[in-house]
Amino acid sequence: MRELERYDRQIRIMDLGVDGQLKLKDSRVLVVGVGGLGGVAAMYLAATGVGFIRIVDSGVLELNNLNRQIPYSEKDIGRLKVEAAAERLTSLNSDIVIEPIPQMITSENIDALLKDVDLVVDGLDNFEARLLVNDKCVELGIPFIHGAVYSFEGRLMTIIPGKTPCLRCLVPSPPLSHDIIPVIGPVPGVIGCLEALEAVKIITEMGKPFTDKILVFDGLSLEFTSIPISRSPNCPICSKYYLRQLE
Ligand SMILES: [Zn+2]
Repeated sequence: MRELERYDRQIRIMDLGVDGQLKLKDSRVLVVGVGGLGGVAAMYLAATGVGFIRIVDSGVLELNNLNRQIPYSEKDIGRLKVEAAAERLTSLNSDIVIEPIPQMITSENIDALLKDVDLVVDGLDNFEARLLVNDKCVELGIPFIHGAVYSFEGRLMTIIPGKTPCLRCLVPSPPLSHDIIPVIGPVPGVIGCLEALEAVKIITEMGKPFTDKILVFDGLSLEFTSIPISRSPNCPICSKYYLRQLE
């Protein structure tokens, strides 16, 4: 069977097996932003066999994206990223469903974009949008894998609503943002891969999600540091839902 052959090397992982592969096939993941982080994460989610991937991005590919946004080619310059990404992901794995949505995520469309997904992967480039996604994921109880990059540094944190601190516990309001984020190509590759791996772990219920701490990757020393994060009692978002859970 074609799928058994495609996923042979991961089905051979004893604790994953056919059951884990079927969980991946049945899963529905939203990747918000398909640039350096989200593009890489989406490629690995597709390769691994996540059955449904919704990709959301309003951007059009520019030449200055190609130092890091590896799903794309020069011929895609000027095209909608979600369109080019959907083509690339389908050429990688035609056994899965890709749903490209050429929109920017906003408070108006977020409910529709999060509809029927099991998990959200952060491929965004600004904290306004990340906090919007965080807040809605916590409200709806959808796991959210946050990733961010700057220069030679990358960060990752997983949020399991009702159980772990959320992104707003760490970043209460959007910090001053940069219009253009300087970044070396491989760093979003590293973090995007780790986000995909986190998603696969959560879907297959293997290992332990990277929660209650933030991972800081220093590309200049190749060191990964974990910094513990506690739930903020002042967090306006998850406090509300934790309280509800405790009742
Ligand atoms: Zn919180």
